[in-house]
Amino acid sequence: MLSKLMNCLGLSTFPTVRGVQWFNLAVLIITPAIAFYGLCYVPVMSQTMFCALGLYVVTMLGITAGYHRLWSHRAYNAHPVLQVALMLAATCAMQGSCYWWARRHRSHHRHTDTDRDPYNAQRGLLWSHVGWMVFRTDLRAGSADISDLKKDVLVQWQHRWYFPLAFSTGLIVPTVLCGLLWGDWKGGIYFASALRMTACHHSTFCINSIAHYLGETTYDDRLSPRDHLISAMLTMGEGYHNFHHQFPMDYRNAFRWYQYDPTKWFIAACNLLGLATNLRTFPSNEIEKGFLSMKLKDLKTVQDSLTWPIPPEELPIVEWDTFRQESSKRTLLLVSGYIHDTTSFLKDHPGGADLLARHSGKDATAAFFGGVYEHSNAAHNLLAMLRVGILAGGVECLGHPSVPPSQALYIAGHSRDRNARGPSH
Ligand SMILES: [Zn+2]
Ligand SMILES: [Zn+2]
Repeated sequence: MLSKLMNCLGLSTFPTVRGVQWFNLAVLIITPAIAFYGLCYVPVMSQTMFCALGLYVVTMLGITAGYHRLWSHRAYNAHPVLQVALMLAATCAMQGSCYWWARRHRSHHRHTDTDRDPYNAQRGLLWSHVGWMVFRTDLRAGSADISDLKKDVLVQWQHRWYFPLAFSTGLIVPTVLCGLLWGDWKGGIYFASALRMTACHHSTFCINSIAHYLGETTYDDRLSPRDHLISAMLTMGEGYHNFHHQFPMDYRNAFRWYQYDPTKWFIAACNLLGLATNLRTFPSNEIEKGFLSMKLKDLKTVQDSLTWPIPPEELPIVEWDTFRQESSKRTLLLVSGYIHDTTSFLKDHPGGADLLARHSGKDATAAFFGGVYEHSNAAHNLLAMLRVGILAGGVECLGHPSVPPSQALYIAGHSRDRNARGPSH
């Protein structure tokens, strides 16, 4: 029972804890506690709640379009006005400085699913969601190139002044806004600041936890990132995380037009306004290759679970006289150079057993391919399963007609798989 609970929370995969990062823990406990108290005891004003919601969207865009896609991945170029706006918006999320955030995020991409990945998903949901920020361990973030961030004046300025900036944009501005505009000073603190900040924290943390846990491995299944609408909705569109880990420099997370990615729409709108330029996209042709390879992998699993005709190289070569002799004992049909034993199929033949018996010991190629009846795909596939030999010097076992429809698009694969049969012709 205890081990089940530990597994569920990911505690069994937790690294050895050496201590607690008290400041981070305090922020992560006190902020939701204030919000909870407010929800229980402070009167809710609709203007304040709309303000909190609006600030949530602005703050999240600061993180997703700013900290993440602009500064961590350089997915586009931003006009200085947009840079300042995104930096201030992200600062009021109280998620650490951009320099600190982007540095760790680059390590996450470079060392995904290893202990050099700061929020290694292999350490469990609790670790990747908040554990990595709250506990001190022996783990250290792996190397990442941050030379551009060191030279970025705005990034360095925000890093230097982070705490006063975060305090004023995260707490004072929302409170003063609600207080001065409609007199709801308390609502400003409890909802526009604390509740909005709590929501932003956990929305962002979901990118590291849920987006590595829930959904499909659409483009590559070797690592934990996954694509799912729910994580996209929780994270302003960052939930197509399998795509993102494959193509991190792409300004989009959602590649398909119908997928939910408000951050992509925001960047595209900024592009129309001339505030964002050089939006980077990975070639669609290469993206589709990743998509196709995973689809083929799924289909190959189905293909490998099926039984296929004996390949030509494993069939015996049979002389004409032997074929004729044997066909007096069993119903043997010659089609496209292959000898088929149809004895077990006589009673199931839709055209009747007599028709098959009449062609025993003869070349039935013309009859099978339309001379008597144009057989269905199913008939072609079934006939191939009845192969017992190849006629020596008979009709060549080559060409399209001899390939059963089920094997016309056979997925070969590059790994040696002795159990899987290749296409036979
Ligand atoms: Zn990730
Ligand atoms: Zn990323």
